[in-house]
Amino acid sequence: MIGLIFFLMKQKMVPYVKIPFSTKGLQIGSATVLASAILDQEQTEFPPNTLYAEGWTLVLFNLLYVGPVIYACVQPSYMAKSLFRNVLDTCSMVVIHSGLYNVVHRIMHRVRAFRPIHNIHHQFKDVVVSSSANAVSVQEFLWAYMMPFVVGVHLIHPTESALFASTSIVSAFNLLVHSPHLSTQKWISWFVSPSEHLTHHKTRTPSYSAPTFHWGRIWSKVTHAK
Ligand SMILES: [Zn+2]
Ligand SMILES: [Zn+2]
Repeated sequence: MIGLIFFLMKQKMVPYVKIPFSTKGLQIGSATVLASAILDQEQTEFPPNTLYAEGWTLVLFNLLYVGPVIYACVQPSYMAKSLFRNVLDTCSMVVIHSGLYNVVHRIMHRVRAFRPIHNIHHQFKDVVVSSSANAVSVQEFLWAYMMPFVVGVHLIHPTESALFASTSIVSAFNLLVHSPHLSTQKWISWFVSPSEHLTHHKTRTPSYSAPTFHWGRIWSKVTHAK
């Protein structure tokens, strides 16, 4: 069958579609895979073998294929920007990602039709490992993880460096909030801590913020300050 498709493509009888692929996206994906494997070494408890293996298959596919393809589809700005502007754009991208992730995560819990795409991630319930961060269905990876960056790029027009920095920050915090050995660590007060996200895995609690800003806490601090 595959031979027939290649034959037809050679004869130009079926269109040949070149899928874009970004080496920058692959660098972030590979670094995240490596960091996941190193952080998993810190674990004392592991999920059942079949779930752990399925999780790693998704981790590798999402980070080494889906991520680099989407990264190649977004167009960063090639305009020179000051260091201050680059830092501001990086922070804005992280804020936009966090806000949109919260909305999509809420939808995946509250709207019945979207629940199945979030199920595999919540199979890591009592035992969560760092690599579980990207052990999500491809649909979840696209909607909850990638879509916020695509929207951010359209709104902010970050440079390539600001896009690289913001995706690296989000990816790093995503691994950290899924790391049980960090659950007793003090955390940045406006950010979701590992213990809070691990509680979400156990109880599916109504806190849908991750992996950076904790919007519920920020909201209550702002309203109490008034
Ligand atoms: Zn999670
Ligand atoms: Zn959830």
